This record gives sequence, C-alpha cells and structure tokens, in this order.
Amino acid sequence: MATGWAVGAGWAGRRAGAARARFLGLGAPGPRPPAGAPLRGPSSVTPASGMATIKAELMKNLTSTEPIPTNKISIVGAGSVGMACAVSVLLRGLSDQLVLVDVAEDRLKGETMDLQHGTSFAKMPHIVASKDYRVTENSSLVVVTAGVRQEKGETRLNLVQRNVVIFRQMIADIMAYSPKCKLIVVSNPVDILTYVTWKLSGLPKGQVIGSGCNLDTARFRFLIGQKLGIHPDSCHGWVLGEHGDSSVPVWSGVNVAGVLLRDLNPDLATDRDPEHWKHVHKDVIASAYQIIKMKGYTSWAIGLSVVDLAESILKNLRRVHPVSTIVKGLYGIKEEVALSVPCVLGGNGITDLIKVRLTPEEEAQLKKSAETLWGIQKTLKV
Ligand code: NAD
Repeated sequence: MATGWAVGAGWAGRRAGAARARFLGLGAPGPRPPAGAPLRGPSSVTPASGMATIKAELMKNLTSTEPIPTNKISIVGAGSVGMACAVSVLLRGLSDQLVLVDVAEDRLKGETMDLQHGTSFAKMPHIVASKDYRVTENSSLVVVTAGVRQEKGETRLNLVQRNVVIFRQMIADIMAYSPKCKLIVVSNPVDILTYVTWKLSGLPKGQVIGSGCNLDTARFRFLIGQKLGIHPDSCHGWVLGEHGDSSVPVWSGVNVAGVLLRDLNPDLATDRDPEHWKHVHKDVIASAYQIIKMKGYTSWAIGLSVVDLAESILKNLRRVHPVSTIVKGLYGIKEEVALSVPCVLGGNGITDLIKVRLTPEEEAQLKKSAETLWGIQKTLKV
C-alpha cells in the first residue's frame, strides 16, 4: 500500500524539471524516483524530534516498491459525463487505479475528494487526479469526455470545430504517457471525434473506440421493453450509424427470444403500422434533447454504457457492442468515416466487425449517415 491517507492537494507542474510533481490522491503515484534513489516508505518517515511515527510503530514494512497498476483507467474531463463514468467504474470495481484529468482545477479537486470519501463503500481504493497528464502514465484505457458541452437545441455536429481544437493537445498528451492504451471517445460529435482521435493518435483502428450508438441502442431497447413490459436485456435490437440525428434503427432484426417483431407485423415501424413503432426510434433521437432541456446535460446512462464497454476491454470479454469505428469499405461506404456497427470488443479493442444483413432501405440510411458525417469531416483541419 502506498503511503498516507490524507488528501494531499499537490498539483503537478508541466515543467520537465519538476522533480517532485505530486497528484491529488490516496497515496499518490507521483513519478517513480530515479533508480537508486531512496523510495518513500513508512520506515523512512521520521519526525524532526527523532521519535518514531505512529505509522512506523503500527506497521512493519516489508517492501518499499510501489505496486504498478495493471488495469488503470484514466478519464479525461471530469464534468457530468466523466464523473458518471467514474462512479460507474467504482461501482463495478473495474480498475486498480482510477485517474481523473481536467483543466478546471477546483472542480477536479472537489470531485476527486468527494469520490475518494466514498472509497469505503467501493472495492477500489486508488483514485488520483491532476491536470498534468503524467498522472495517466501507463493507462490501459483512457476515456475521453472532455470538451465543450452541447447547448440547448444545438446539434452535435455544431460542436465539432470547437472540440477538434481541444483534441489536438489532449490526444498528444495522452499518447505521450500511454502509447499503447485503448481510447474510448465519448465527447460529441462522437463519430467525427473518433475519426479525429484515430488520426491524431496514430493508434491502430481497433484501439480507438467511439461510444457511438451504444447509448442509442440502450435507449432503443429500453423503450421497446417499456412497450412490451419486458426487461431491455431481453429485447434485442440495434441502432447503428451516426450517434444522434441520422442513426439507423435496424427494425428488420428486432426480436424477443428469436421471434422477429417484423414477422408478427410486416408493417412494423412503417407509416402503415397501426401501433406506430416508428415513434420508438424518434424518441431515441429526441431523448438527449429532452433530457438536456430538463436537467441541462445527460450523464447517468452514458456513464453506465461507457463502463460496460470498458469492462469488455479490460476483461477481454469479446462481447459485441454497437460502437463507432472506421467503416470504410463496408456497405459501399468509400470515405474514412467512423460509424457504429456491431463490433467484437476485447483486450485488444475492436477485433472484428459483425456484417449485419441490412435491408436495402437500412443500408441506404447508413450510407446517408456516412455522407452527413463526411460532409462535415472533409471541412475539418485535423
Ligand atoms: P461538461 O461541460 O460537464 O464537462 C466537460 C469537462 O471537460 C469540463 O469539466 C471541462 O473543464 C473539461 N475540459 C474542457 N477542456 C479540457 C481539456 N482541454 N482538457 C481536459 N479537460 C477539459 O460536459 P459533459 O456534460 O460532461 O459532456 C462531455 C462531452 O460528452 C460533451 O462533448 C457531450 O456532448 C458528450 N456526451 C456524449 C454522449 C455520447 O453518447 N457520446 C452523451 C452525453 C454527452
């Protein structure tokens, strides 16, 4: 166990020469001292009076080395979404070190202390934070939620240029300390920023994962479940394409226990459908706008859904999730755009894409999604 339980609010400087950069944390994992330098340890702490400390009296130290985390998760952006992700990581006990990074120092300190005080109730003791990316060193997974927030009524695509500027520095900083990490991009517009992150990071495609339609699909299944009185887990259906306004509900595959709803009603979700199932997808699209109008932002569902992705990666589960990845070559898409398709997610990130059989109408909608994104993307200076 690292030294100290007090919250030491030391902040790492960006200067390369900052010899003892410290981080806000429970036994903060500051940079390891140079080889040969004395390591911090309980027995090395002796007050000026020469009396032994209570800690030294209480414990006999057997090792002076700091444990190296094996599944460290860093969350960049400690806003509403970042903190919802952080709480979800804690509740699942998913990682042996959770790191938070944000430019807003006071908020970051406050959020970190608040979270640390809950560690008695979570099986994950090590939470650290800093605005210095050194604290993220050797992360297995970095979740990017930083950026400017979607304003009331603002489309996700409108956010893009403001966020690209932020991403240039942020991705460079992340890669400097965790060159082999997997990255989950959550910031909006998530599909475009997934492409931007892939370009900026230089990582293989499979290591850059956009949260994409993972949330849209969860909303879709929830709303179908509400209509049928069945838990969303048992309502199988996928929303693919762009996260947001041009997302594509794959009605042809919606089923419960293998029973296709379209076999029960061939007009399902068409204009001729007397039950108006089409509204389910309209409600999926409207959800974010409605929630933002009412509470100012969305957070809980995206936090839970992102950490579900994190679990597949950190535990190498190879589950299939609708996440955003570069889809050039699929469904006749010729441009380098990132869109959600069902992806096998494991320890190496995305390893395979599932080739969903779409109806010609669904495939046309997916291509339209790609065109909408490319229309924005081609104007960007990455
Ligand atoms: P927020 O404003 O509460 O938090 C954003 C945080 O990013 C702030 O704390 C800010 O200080 C920080 N930040 C800004 N620039 C930074 C930088 N350069 N380095 C580090 N930190 C920086 O916003 P939020 O509600 O948490 O939303 C975050 C992002 O997630 C937005 O882009 C939002 O649209 C997106 N989002 C995506 C989904 C999805 O399904 N993909 C769902 C909800 C929200």
